[in-house]
Amino acid sequence: MPLSPPPPLGSHLLPSNAYRDKVVMVTGGGTGLGKAIALEFARLGAKVAIASRKNFQGGVDAIEEIGGAAMGATMDVRDPGSVAACFDAVEAGLGPVDVLVNNAAGNFEAPADRMSPNAWKTVVDIVLNGTFYCAREFGVRRLAAGRGGAVLNVGAPYAATGGPSTSHSAAAKAGVSNLTWSLAVEWAPDNIRINTLAPGFFPERDRSSHSVDAGASAANLDEQVANRIRTIPGGRVGQARELGWLATFLCSDYANYLTGHVIALDGGNWLRRWHGSAPFEPIRESYDRRRQAAAATEET
Ligand code: NAP
Repeated sequence: MPLSPPPPLGSHLLPSNAYRDKVVMVTGGGTGLGKAIALEFARLGAKVAIASRKNFQGGVDAIEEIGGAAMGATMDVRDPGSVAACFDAVEAGLGPVDVLVNNAAGNFEAPADRMSPNAWKTVVDIVLNGTFYCAREFGVRRLAAGRGGAVLNVGAPYAATGGPSTSHSAAAKAGVSNLTWSLAVEWAPDNIRINTLAPGFFPERDRSSHSVDAGASAANLDEQVANRIRTIPGGRVGQARELGWLATFLCSDYANYLTGHVIALDGGNWLRRWHGSAPFEPIRESYDRRRQAAAATEET
């Protein structure tokens, strides 16, 4: 029997006014998991800023559809000047940011010997450097104002294990976990908390840049989900609203004594390593096999 499904979308974990008068910035919140997280903050009364390079309007529209308050703001997390300008714009539009969700990321599959230095640098720039630039900008402003706050990074379980075929992202996410521990200690005396939520497999259909698997397309997403479910101890994939509940809890007053944690939300999958695991297939062979299968599916 799989892990039980979550309560229906729209159910509340926290009081419905938990984020009234709070400003929450979600980087990359116009698509995928960031959008689901942004929506849950809005359901709880937050004014939400969706910050990304170009695809932020989907998040703004989704929040406005449920009667929430949102604004879109341009930001490239790789550029500290753009990060600072975005915080200025959000402060002018909604007020100072109380909660920062570092969700923006880029990722794709490539065995290390076929990964260009530029590909490595791009992913590390977005995931690790971008998380630092945004957290730093938030921390500088909160410290200057003498006001506390909360940061939530969106990590990944393979930060703890390594990520064969996504070594750039796994290394960057490991850096994000480590940054969480450092900043938790630096900022706790100033009432600023920081945690990381590490999602397992959440197959959102409106993701902008991440591929679900090598050569993924919407057409074979259902098949990939069915295959993945067989690999997850919990027997099902994650539902986006489960991320929203955990994110809003971690940044809320109900978690005021909780800082410096990396929490995997993945049905127990990252712990699934034992001597009886499925036979090992070398990464390059696995990558080629799946790309060829995906290409054959596309052709038919
Ligand atoms: P996604 O839909 O591809 O979203 C990534 C977002 O990041 C986009 O909205 C994109 O917006 C933004 N972004 C990319 N580069 C940026 C940059 N340089 N500056 C600012 N924004 C940028 O991804 P997702 O699958 O929902 O993943 C969301 C988070 O969950 C990521 O941190 C990811 O690593 C993590 N995660 C996801 C899964 C999963 O199953 N989906 C599993 C583990 C971890 P623009 O294009 O407009 O910039």
